[in-house]
This record gives sequence, C-alpha cells and structure tokens, in this order.
Amino acid sequence: MSDQRPRTWSDRELGMDRAIPRRDFLNGAALAVGATLLPASLKAAQNASASEPQNQPDYNPPVSTGLRGSHPGSFEIAHSLRDGTFWKNAPTPKALPEQYDLIVVGGGISGLSAAHFFRERVGASAKILILENHDDFGGHARRNEFHLGGKLQLLNGGTMLIDSPTPYSAEAAGLMKKLGIDAAALDKRCTDHGFYRSQGLRSAVFFDRETFGDDRLVPGVMVEEEEATGEGGDTQWKEFLAQAPLSETARRDILRIERGKVDYLPGLTSTEKKDRLSRISYKDFLLQVAGADPGVIPFYQTRTNGEWGVGIDAEPALDCWALGLPGFQGLQLTPGAAPHMSYSAAGYANGGSERFHFPDGNASIARLLVRDLVPGAVPGVSAEDIVTAPVHYDLLDKSGAPIRIRLNSTVVGVRNLGEPKAATAVEVTYASGKDVFTVRAGACVLACWNMTIPFLCPELPAAQKEALHYLVKVPLVYTSVGLRNWRAFKKLGVSNIHAPGAYWNAASLNWVVDIGGYKSPRSPEEPILVHMSRTPCKPGLPAREQHKAGRMELLATPFALFERKIREQLARSLADGGFDPARDIEAITVNRWPHGYGYEYNPLFDPEWPDGRQPHILGRKKFGRITIANSDSGATAYTDVAMDQAYRAVGELFS
Ligand SMILES: Cc1cc2nc3c(=O)[nH]c(=O)nc-3n(C[C@H](O)[C@H](O)[C@H](O)COP(=O)(O)OP(=O)(O)OC[C@H]3O[C@@H](n4cnc5c(N)ncnc54)[C@H](O)[C@@H]3O)c2cc1C
Repeated sequence: MSDQRPRTWSDRELGMDRAIPRRDFLNGAALAVGATLLPASLKAAQNASASEPQNQPDYNPPVSTGLRGSHPGSFEIAHSLRDGTFWKNAPTPKALPEQYDLIVVGGGISGLSAAHFFRERVGASAKILILENHDDFGGHARRNEFHLGGKLQLLNGGTMLIDSPTPYSAEAAGLMKKLGIDAAALDKRCTDHGFYRSQGLRSAVFFDRETFGDDRLVPGVMVEEEEATGEGGDTQWKEFLAQAPLSETARRDILRIERGKVDYLPGLTSTEKKDRLSRISYKDFLLQVAGADPGVIPFYQTRTNGEWGVGIDAEPALDCWALGLPGFQGLQLTPGAAPHMSYSAAGYANGGSERFHFPDGNASIARLLVRDLVPGAVPGVSAEDIVTAPVHYDLLDKSGAPIRIRLNSTVVGVRNLGEPKAATAVEVTYASGKDVFTVRAGACVLACWNMTIPFLCPELPAAQKEALHYLVKVPLVYTSVGLRNWRAFKKLGVSNIHAPGAYWNAASLNWVVDIGGYKSPRSPEEPILVHMSRTPCKPGLPAREQHKAGRMELLATPFALFERKIREQLARSLADGGFDPARDIEAITVNRWPHGYGYEYNPLFDPEWPDGRQPHILGRKKFGRITIANSDSGATAYTDVAMDQAYRAVGELFS
C-alpha cells in the first residue's frame, strides 16, 4: 500500500452514511419479551390483521438485508426461556383447536425431511405441523436474494454445499433423488468452475497490517484448483512468498512445509503416526514436529476456521492432513480414516458426495422439500427451476392443508400427555408475537438445536439433559455484499481472497452458476455478490469455550460494526484496484449464526467415550412420543446427516 493512502478510514470515506436498506433496523440488541417479540415490520403486519406475518402481502424474507441468519426477533424468546424469565412475562397459553399426527419443531433440512419421511410412512393424509422460530424456513440453509441493477442474484446465507466428508446414506441419497437433485449432472451442466481463471483471476492472500505489519494483497497459490492445475509449484510459491510481509525464516519454513517431503516422524508406522497426529494440534505439529519458526503460525492460523470454526491451535493435525493442509507429504500416511479422526477425506474419494452448489446453497434443497410438502407453495417441476421459483408464503400455513409450516413461532414446551412410556399424544406450546399457544399431536420430532431441548422438555431424564447440553454449536458469520461492479477484482486479477489475520477470513466473488432461468454475471461491469466469512473463535481456549465466547461476541455485535469491518476490509484489500467502498457497495446482508455448525467431537479436548455413550447418542434418546432429529444428533454439521437423523427420529416413532 502506498504511503499516501489513509491508514485509517473515516465513516464518510467508507460510505457508512450511504443508504443501505435496514442498516439501523434492529441491530442485534436483545429485545424485551412481550410486545416486542417480533421485528418491527412483522409486528406492524401482525397488528394490521389477525393473521400471521407470513400471510401478509409481499412477505419475502430472502430479500431482507441487514442482520439476518439468527435475526433479531428469532431468538429472544428462546433466550428468555433459558434464563427462566419467559413464563414470568408470558400470557396464559391459548389452546388451538388444531390436531396433528406429528408436530415437527424446527423448519431446517432435518425438520422438513422428518415431515417428508413421516408422510412417506403414514400416507398422503398425514397431518403435520412444522413450527419454526425464524421468519423463513430452511434453518441454516438460508437464501439471500438480491436484485442488483434489476437482475436476480443469489447467495447462500448459510449452508453452501452438498458435499460431505462421508458418502450420502441410502436414505439421504434417496431423498435427494426424490427431490430431483442429481448433483453431479447439475455440476457438469450448470457450474463454470473455470470462469474466473479464464478471465485471468486467481486467489490471493490479504496480509493485514495488524497481524503482519503491512497491508498487502498478494496473488497466491492457496486454492486447490491452482494446485490441481500444477500451478502451486516451487516457483509460484517462491514468487508468492517473496512478496509476503514475512520474515526470511518464516518464508523458508513455509516453503518447506508446502513443498518439502520430509518425514517428520521417522521410525513410526502409518498407524502410529496417525495416532500421534490425532493427539496434537496442527499448530503444535508445525512448531514441535516440523520444527517451523513461530513466524509461520499467523499465515496458517485460520486455515481451519471455515471447516471447524476454530483455528489450527484447536484442530488435530490428523484432521488437517485429511483436509489437505500441507506438511504431511513426506509422512507416507495411508489414505483413509483413522481412529480419533473426526473428519474423513475418504468420503470424497468414495464418490458419495458432490461439489455442486446451488446459487442460494442448500436453501434450494429446503425449497424443494417445501415444494414437495406443500403443493402449490413453490411452483415448478425441477431442481433447476427451483432457483428462480417464487415462494407463496401465504400458502405455507393454510387451514385444512395436511402439512402446514408456521414461521415466527418459537416452541417453548413439549410434553407427553401422560406417562412417557404409555403416552399416545403430545402437547406443544409455542410463542408467536404477543401470544402463546398450545397444540396437540400424536407425536413430536424435535429437529431443533439439541442444546435447547432441555429447556423445552424439562421432564427429560437429568443424564439426557446433561448430554444435550454438552453439544456446543459453532458460531459463524456468512455475509453477502452486493457490489455495483467487480472492476477492482478484475484489475487486481483476483477472484477470492484469503485473509489469515483479518476480521473477515475470506472474501470471494460469487460462484458462476447458470441454472434454469438464473444467470451469473460475466462482465466486470455488472453488479455481483461477494461472500465474506468470519469465525469469531478465541484461539488458545479449548474448542467448546471458543465457541461459547464467539457466540457471545456475535450476539453483542451491532450491524454497524459488521458493516464497518466489511467496508474497511474491502477498501484496504482492493484499494489498488480502485475500489471505493462508499461508491461500490450497494447492499449488505450479514448472516449471523451464533448457533452454527453442529458440534463435532475433537480428540484434543473431548474424552474418548465408549461406543454408544457419546453425548449425542445419549441426548437423542426417544422420550415417549417425542424423538430427536437435527444434525446435532449426528454430532456433525452436514446436510446428509440432517436428513439421516430425521429418518432415524421418524423411524423411532414407529418402533
Ligand atoms: C454458516 C453455515 C454454513 C454451513 N455450510 C454447510 C455446507 O456447505 N454443507 C453442509 O452439508 N452443511 C453445512 N452447514 C451445516 C448445516 O447446519 C447442515 O447442513 C444442515 O442445514 C442442518 O440442518 P438441521 O435441520 O439439522 O438444523 P438447522 O438448519 O439448524 O435447523 C434447525 C431449525 O430449528 C429451529 N429451532 C431451534 N429451536 C427452535 C424452537 N424452540 N422452536 C422452533 N424452531 C426452533 C432453528 O432456528 C432452525 O431453523 C452449514 C452451517 C452453517 C451455520
């Protein structure tokens, strides 16, 4: 960066005064329970008529910008239930005259799949109610929809890919097939993986001055496609490192880690090496086993953030080997999973998972499920037309329909009617707006976040509640930024930026996917979406503590701070390309997920439980007519697992 450029950016230079829809609308501060349970716009809608917000004209949550993900209005009731204050302020529940065969708590992939599997067993007449606390269905599979320059542009607000480290099970693969999703074929037909490369764009690393002493964008060799094309060779690495603001020793050691073929654990078998690697962090592997200079650590620190929500201080080296991180080339490890490995590269090799990405991520899967469950709500016939299909939210909860999806409804109680063993029905209590309702069904699948379940079902056995509490979800932020054009990216020759030390760890131009009527921008003069991600982990703490501290940080961060950090980082990293944050940023959606990925056990911090005694297994035990789904119940964070757990939870109702 040249000396003339300001080292600090005023709000005005960043464009903090520019119009961004809903910037100041509910900025993340906790709302009081009661009259203010819903965001203002929804409340106004509700007051305007007795019907639900989702039945109001123009109700279309995916187009909302500002603070999304776990948006204001979605979590306050659950938090007040946790804090023991909910019932002090709540009105007397009103009993609804509705009666269902099944109530599903949680409208994510797992909840929607549970409804699908239940109807498959019971038949088309099955009466099912799905209750979801957010203003949209899909859970983490959330759609961000923009109309930039009048053209539809989409990004995933959460779940992005169909991939999984393990092959899809027969049930999950079967469901994908029933929904018409052939990921491999869609990938071939619709994704232009090589587009940015063909335009001379590549990946880059942004070294920030707070971490590395200087703001510097260095086109690099960090992306697997580049490695696949053989461009991650010695020469490219040397050129890259020569420009990096790193010490000579750090450069030398990074080159050795990336390109060397040293066996750092000589004399051990592959099994013994894997065992050792499962018990040390990747950071310790680099420092203590590979003998690297501490100056390499800031360069690698956040390489695992996107995958596990913590940095290399808290991730076992063995999992990092499976992820393809460098340093293991000379160890001659036999491919395949190993004990103590939470992550298996074998799944990719087995061909059970695909890299296809719908423009709105797995929100398209959620939309296909809703199309299947509620006829007419999402018109169309294929996995291609789903991308541009409208959702008729007012049809989701139609009186008399066999399957109903009720949004903005936080479940606060679920109980068996009678002794759990003998019960034939359940009662579910939920809060919506100012009201609290009870509704009855033959059974309930809890497809919500498992750590909330002890608060919904205080009657669960103590050991089960303790097990459910053990699972701490991983906090993350996925941000979609609408730009007027991407000239700066083109001028700098970069399409995606890894920023190892910065607030946002990554910023990338949207994938190029043309599917159905949806067309990605191809010209740098066109508006585009940029995806930015942040993992609010706290290096040095045990993984679960990092997740808890990160969640607190997210809940306390107002939209204005996220916005400033977005503008400033894009300004600093793209300034040499002529990027002007005040002029070039058109829209921002921050998807804040304080409860993100399902918890995956980490051999560095978790005990080795005997098989069948792991918290997720103890926690998901059937309780009378109540069963438990969600990817949490599979102790991992993947779409196929969310489906598998739904299948199991539904099956248990019939056993
Ligand atoms: C940012 C992000 C990126 C991800 N990327 C991927 C990816 O690329 N590929 C992949 O396979 N997986 C990914 N995941 C993991 C994702 O969690 C799973 O794939 C899957 O979507 C989980 O579905 P689920 O239904 O089990 O849980 P969720 O999607 O969390 O759905 C559960 C729903 O229950 C609701 N709920 C909770 N409590 C209550 C209550 N009391 N009353 C009513 N409703 C309630 C929640 O609000 C939520 O909407 C990602 C997750 C995040 C957060």
